[in-house]
Amino acid sequence: MVDEARWWAMRPASNLKPATYRCPFCGKHLASMSDHVLIAPEDDRSKRRHAHMECVRAARAAGRLPTRDEWIAAERGPRPSLGARMRGLFVGKKADK
Ligand SMILES: [Zn+2]
Repeated sequence: MVDEARWWAMRPASNLKPATYRCPFCGKHLASMSDHVLIAPEDDRSKRRHAHMECVRAARAAGRLPTRDEWIAAERGPRPSLGARMRGLFVGKKADK
């Protein structure tokens, strides 16, 4: 299920009421009161899942679970930063004189 979305919203979670969830990465149980991560495909709250912090960290280290910003950057491809483009404009103007 973790490869279905283009990007993921994620935030740290620690519930006050006890419940047990199943981590979508390792399939093991997760206690709601422990520190863990809430992940939601493309910020779809209805599909959010509770995952172990270590499992999310491992998935991200493996290049899965991109954030929205990372996905946008990847879609856009390598491009000079705004600063580099601004400098280019000024360099161009100076060269005209
Ligand atoms: Zn896990």
